[in-house]
Amino acid sequence: MKRFNHFDAASVEEAVSLLNESTGPSYVIAGGSDLMGCLKDNLWMEAPERIVNLKTIPGLNEIRVENDGLHIGALVTLTDLSESDAIKEQWPGLAEAARRTASPLLRNMGTVAGNICQENRCWYYRYPDKIGGRIDCVRKGGKRCLAVPGDHRFHSIFGAVKKCIAVNPSDTAPAFIALNATVKTTKRDIAIDEFFSAEKGAQSTILDRDEIVTEIIVPKPEAGPTSAFRKIAYRKSIDFALVNCAASVAVKDGKIESARICLNGVHNNPRRCETSEELLIGKELTEELAREAGELAVAEAKPLLQNGFKVQMAKTIVADTLMDCTK
Ligand SMILES: Cc1cc2nc3c(=O)[nH]c(=O)nc-3n(C[C@H](O)[C@H](O)[C@H](O)COP(=O)(O)OP(=O)(O)OC[C@H]3O[C@@H](n4cnc5c(N)ncnc54)[C@H](O)[C@@H]3O)c2cc1C
Ligand code: SF4
Repeated sequence: MKRFNHFDAASVEEAVSLLNESTGPSYVIAGGSDLMGCLKDNLWMEAPERIVNLKTIPGLNEIRVENDGLHIGALVTLTDLSESDAIKEQWPGLAEAARRTASPLLRNMGTVAGNICQENRCWYYRYPDKIGGRIDCVRKGGKRCLAVPGDHRFHSIFGAVKKCIAVNPSDTAPAFIALNATVKTTKRDIAIDEFFSAEKGAQSTILDRDEIVTEIIVPKPEAGPTSAFRKIAYRKSIDFALVNCAASVAVKDGKIESARICLNGVHNNPRRCETSEELLIGKELTEELAREAGELAVAEAKPLLQNGFKVQMAKTIVADTLMDCTK
């Protein structure tokens, strides 16, 4: 790993100043469970000049339920998220997404902001440069994607973004999208639907390099709503999703009033299933309807040679997650 300067920020304002004063690239660090791997493997073209530690900032690790909904501080750990009684009761899909992330140790270290800002896990991209040299794929400034002609079993089934077919690996991202969250940063409030982008900004988001997530706000559930999360991975613990899905459904007088469904692990950015959502409105949530919604969710899928199996998984997980919302 290349040498860098490490600063403990005492406040959010100081953290922003430290980022802006840097003479080279700089990154914030929270739990470090993703960032340290990126640094050790020299993922980025330019090594950072400085790393700014957010964990020394007081008050960013609180969960509060207020009139407008749930406020989750950026440094709240995935363990705290998964074990909060208020979240388990009112936003069960989010608690389950956090519970299914990584392992107990990583959930104790990993923060919610780090989880939605993490880098993709494409094995060519994350290939450690100390083993056989650097692999410069498109996403690293090279000319071609190695996964398209190579091993793309776990990659996108909905095409490429700027020639890259890596997938967003976050488990909490689809839950926040299904729950229509807002990400509060040092610069602005970002609707969660706008937050993820593999094409611009830092890592997998639209964040500017000197922009810090301070809080995520999840609106209170409407009358009769519920949410759910499911994940398919090779191993039950400590494994990234092959496909995951979160859904939130509001039912009134037996009919669906509103619905939000999001798949992840299937494209560069988490993928909202809007045609499936539209199908549900005004209807009773039955097994048959849920299966139809699953079919619609993959109608535009373009699997590659090795990952057609993920289409079937995505179809099934959408239906099953929707049915979980009725429990
Ligand atoms: C073995 C292993 C298994 C894993 N399994 C899973 C899994 O199953 N599901 C899953 O979703 N993830 C998984 N992860 C990924 C990830 O490490 C964790 O999910 C964790 O939540 C990341 O949070 P962190 O606080 O450690 O982030 P860090 O490593 O500190 O940061 C990650 C990125 O986010 C940025 N960042 C952090 N906080 C902020 C902020 N407040 N504002 C702006 N940018 C910020 C950092 O600059 C960095 O780019 C796994 C990681 C490992 C090592
Ligand atoms: S999928 Fe993306 S990250 Fe992976 S090799 Fe291709 S361009 Fe690189």
